[in-house]
Amino acid sequence: MHTKTKIFLIIIILLSLNLAFGENYNKAVNDISEAEELLNIAKNYLQTNFGMIVSGKINLQVVSAGKLDELYHGIYRGSEIGLYQQNFEGHHIYIMQGLSRDKCLSTIAHEYTHAWQNENCPFNQDIRLKEGFARWIEVKILRLDGAYQLALDIERSLDPVYGYGLKILIKIEESQGERAVINYIKTALAP
Ligand SMILES: [Zn+2]
Repeated sequence: MHTKTKIFLIIIILLSLNLAFGENYNKAVNDISEAEELLNIAKNYLQTNFGMIVSGKINLQVVSAGKLDELYHGIYRGSEIGLYQQNFEGHHIYIMQGLSRDKCLSTIAHEYTHAWQNENCPFNQDIRLKEGFARWIEVKILRLDGAYQLALDIERSLDPVYGYGLKILIKIEESQGERAVINYIKTALAP
């Protein structure tokens, strides 16, 4: 492969993890039409509540766990349930098939948040803020959907990237409110 081609192949890869201890057993999401429906719910929710809009096209795919592993080779390999990639063709969201509806909705919202960050936040923002904010959005949408235990599990995560970043944003929210979290994430480079 030519170096020139390689450079344009993958610019960013971010993902969602299955760090929650609990699991709910509502019907699994396996097909793209159900996933598209959940993407629309997430889009509307994020636009209405936080003014978050993604202008570029979102390419959503529901894939097997094996396919996700093919796409991602980082340290969290094996725990990933969703993946966001941005390349010369635009935004790509990959969601693992068979997730519960709640988990699928929050994972789609997480990856969609990465697409929004890509258009609205500093490119070189600390990974803990990128993942922490995507987690913060997950917690919000899970509560909206009534999945309180899943939301709590995410908030309790001790992961040094996902959990640490989320805790920073929760502190900002507690002292200054939701709007301050959005403003912070649009400009902050590191916690
Ligand atoms: Zn992520």
